[in-house]
Amino acid sequence: MASGSDEGMGGLNVVLLGAPGAGKGTQAQLIKDRFDLPHIATGDILRAAVAAGTEVGLRAKAYMDKGELVPDEVVVAIVADRIAEDDCADGWLLDGFPRTVPQAEALDRTIAEKSLKPIDCVVYLSITAEAVVERLSGRRVCPNTECGAAYNVETMPPKAEGICDRCGTGIIQRDDDKPDTVRQRLETYEKRTSALVARYRDAGVLAEIQAEGTPEEVSERVLAELGSVE
Ligand code: AMP
Repeated sequence: MASGSDEGMGGLNVVLLGAPGAGKGTQAQLIKDRFDLPHIATGDILRAAVAAGTEVGLRAKAYMDKGELVPDEVVVAIVADRIAEDDCADGWLLDGFPRTVPQAEALDRTIAEKSLKPIDCVVYLSITAEAVVERLSGRRVCPNTECGAAYNVETMPPKAEGICDRCGTGIIQRDDDKPDTVRQRLETYEKRTSALVARYRDAGVLAEIQAEGTPEEVSERVLAELGSVE
């Protein structure tokens, strides 16, 4: 599936896979800057839809608040439209999608139907449940949808307490990072998303990365892996 036959067909097509709190958003920023890829994060797109009060947002909100997945058809339609846009012709970075086997199948169908380049690499950020709970309870995010920077009160605080380094907005805790919802999101991940690891391993595109450690340590591992795919 990876490289070879698709030479000359544009840059990298990368999927970021991992439990909530594994560091997908943080690593996505680094990968997108390094490889100049459009960053397609379904969680960010859905949160923006909720904030804007669109029909998709109104439908998604109830699921998101409970830590459950938004129905496949909603996110599949968002991603199918987005990766067919012109700026994705030279590669893309999918963050938080696919999250279920039907979503992965739909992505394969979209790639085939629109004659897009296949996935080059699925970066799987592997982490224990204990580390996830620790990380998510300390996570704070910038609510400015144009920015979306992430921090951690313990390990990655902003320079001025409570204020986003990049845009100066007051940072907040996401509603779904509260303990009960985190527990539900982890259960959902185990039940619905973890099967994708084996699927992509069998397809020969999985790069398993140890996601514990500092963001810099993890990104070194990620960039080394992607450098060898490029
Ligand atoms: P995230 O920011 O990736 O942690 O996503 C936040 C929430 O948005 C998730 O808990 C889900 O409710 C929803 N969501 C994001 N991506 C997807 C997806 N691919 N499929 C279904 N729901 C999603």
